[in-house]
Amino acid sequence: YVVKSLKLHGFKTFPRETVIDFSRGITAITGPNGSGKSNIAEALIWVMGEQAPSAFRSGQMEDVIFAGTDKLPPMGMAEVVLKFEKLNPQKGEDRYVEILRRFYREGEGEYRLNGKRVRRKDIQDFLYDIGLGSKSFAMIEQGRITQMIEAKPEERRVFIEEVAGILKYKLKKKEAESKIRLTRENLDRVEDIIAEVR
Ligand code: ATP
Repeated sequence: YVVKSLKLHGFKTFPRETVIDFSRGITAITGPNGSGKSNIAEALIWVMGEQAPSAFRSGQMEDVIFAGTDKLPPMGMAEVVLKFEKLNPQKGEDRYVEILRRFYREGEGEYRLNGKRVRRKDIQDFLYDIGLGSKSFAMIEQGRITQMIEAKPEERRVFIEEVAGILKYKLKKKEAESKIRLTRENLDRVEDIIAEVR
């Protein structure tokens, strides 16, 4: 998959619907200080499901919504859509995949995958599957390089596992183990009940 385009609407400095197309090769975004370059990178992180407001230099999630200017009133909702293109789709496979995230000032949010309402986890599973997990090297923020250099060997191992695509399976294993644990507990309970009934 390659990133095809990013659509922002009501996100930080983007009150009007703005679409950024990424054509093949390298895309550079330039502009004066404070014009919103970092906000674009933040929109990318946000649409992929990041939840910590600190990742968006914000105090609260609401701060990602356009706050208004002298000329424009504040908006009630922020929306970001990230479109991926599959380079060699198999027969019957979609060429494009779109992930969408919305957040309303009232505090409600939603995610969509190809238009269908999904959980945050479904978005993250899709991203993990295409090698874009939340902590992947696909996004290197300012300060991350230092963090990597100064990381303890165990922490660095996590980075490497992510790159190698191992982390995805580790997470799935953890999920499966917790399901097994729950099932065991349920079984114990059932056995107790059976013992009582006998
Ligand atoms: P620099 O080169 O200085 O890092 P930049 O182009 O990366 O600048 P950003 O940091 O992306 O700019 O944008 C910062 C601007 O976004 C600030 O002017 C800030 O007021 C504005 N901003 C942040 N959140 C909102 C919001 N919710 N509504 C409107 N404007 C916002």
